Amino acid sequence: MAELRNLSEARDLTRIERIGAHSHIRGLGLDAALEARDVSEGMVGQRAARKAAGLILNLIKEGKIAGRAILLAGQPGTGKTAVAMGLAKSLGAETPFASVSASEIFSLEMSKTEALTQAFRKAIGVRIKEEAEIIEGEVVEISIDRPASGASSGQSSSKTGKLTLKTTDMETVYELGGKMIEALRKEKVQSGDVITLDRASGKVTKLGRSITRSRDYDATGPSTKFVRCPEGELQKRKEVVHCVNLHEIDVINSRTQGFLALFTGDTGEIRAEVREQIDSKVSEWKEEGKAEIIPGVLFVDEVHMLDIECFSFLNNALENEMAPILVIATNRGITTIRGTNYRSPHGIPADFLDRLLIITTQPYTEEEIGKILEIRCDEEEVDMSKDAKLLLTKIGVETSLRYAIHLITAAALACQKRKGKTVEMEDVSRVYGLFLDVKRSTQYLMEYQNQYMFNEVPRVGEEEA
Ligand code: ATP
Repeated sequence: MAELRNLSEARDLTRIERIGAHSHIRGLGLDAALEARDVSEGMVGQRAARKAAGLILNLIKEGKIAGRAILLAGQPGTGKTAVAMGLAKSLGAETPFASVSASEIFSLEMSKTEALTQAFRKAIGVRIKEEAEIIEGEVVEISIDRPASGASSGQSSSKTGKLTLKTTDMETVYELGGKMIEALRKEKVQSGDVITLDRASGKVTKLGRSITRSRDYDATGPSTKFVRCPEGELQKRKEVVHCVNLHEIDVINSRTQGFLALFTGDTGEIRAEVREQIDSKVSEWKEEGKAEIIPGVLFVDEVHMLDIECFSFLNNALENEMAPILVIATNRGITTIRGTNYRSPHGIPADFLDRLLIITTQPYTEEEIGKILEIRCDEEEVDMSKDAKLLLTKIGVETSLRYAIHLITAAALACQKRKGKTVEMEDVSRVYGLFLDVKRSTQYLMEYQNQYMFNEVPRVGEEEA
């Protein structure tokens, strides 16, 4: 429990947002009736897909569709990942969202099924409830006493004339005692101060000073002696909730270095017995009302990269009662199923396709491309003139949305170089000339292919001269 607590605290500290490809997406941009607003929460157009994703979101929130799979299918750059990110942002902090690219599943360090299992378990949340005591009282003396058992008894950490904490529970001594002393020092608590002490976090809050000081101590628990309370009422109970995912619990229990392995990423393969034990422990907590399972969302991008064995694993894993919602995305049409000689829509086997709800994304209009580029300029804090935005939009239409998005930062650098403040058409033209898009790059290759190495290799099915 203590480690899970540390973990959720540490995670709060590391939630730093960077400017990434989808950092402008803050939700699905839907109204209360689930209709997609034109431009909202960083989302533009793609109304039908957003509405469908909103419907799925509501079902997830109501806990109605665990174990389902949704396919986002559409041409490159039509916002499939953006829709998945919008869904993730709308889920709320407690519903886990795990995201992997299908190619990450194939590594030398672990088997495909282990990598998929880890991804699945990252998307299953456990909400653990703990009763915490808040104790309010006057500070009389601080001294932490170890229980009398064992040779180490009698060790104490003390500060003159302060709160007394006596306990036979070793965990309380180590976890709470140390924290409390530290907190008391930081707060500069003195004898006669009235404080509250949160036993779960060890947080001490100073309320003021007691007017009438008395030395009549109250025992506030079977093995705990705290402080006198000014009003006679010592304890208030409150519920502390920790949200972790099953993979995190697996890692904590599978390695000697415990939860630190989560930060190094060196989690390795986790033994099946460890997972079985954890599943039964979590079910136990669930039975006792101490924990709640929250099936989240697992997003697998570039799903055509999975092979037939992975699809078979997914088919099976979705049958599990704790299974999350699986959202997969691909930009492939009819193609070979990896690991076989068969072709099928999106490179996905027919039996798996059959269980999918399919959401398609459509190419953007010029106006929509313009709006997305405008949002990206704001996100990247680039000041761009109207004409330059129009030119960039034209480039986006002619080439691709992604290429045009990439030119924003490049054009801003070109502008900075000429000591300008606002990105103008000349900056956009300059970087357009410097960096080729796919069409021009292909054209260039056609013209100069003779000067490249291995250009004599014949294509598949082509007769060698
Ligand atoms: P691929 O098939 O190549 O993976 P994709 O369909 O997943 O492409 P995205 O990566 O989602 O496309 O989109 C490309 C860029 O455009 C991203 O930066 C994305 O955030 C942005 N974008 C796409 N659609 C929208 C939209 N409707 N609103 C706002 N931004 C969008």
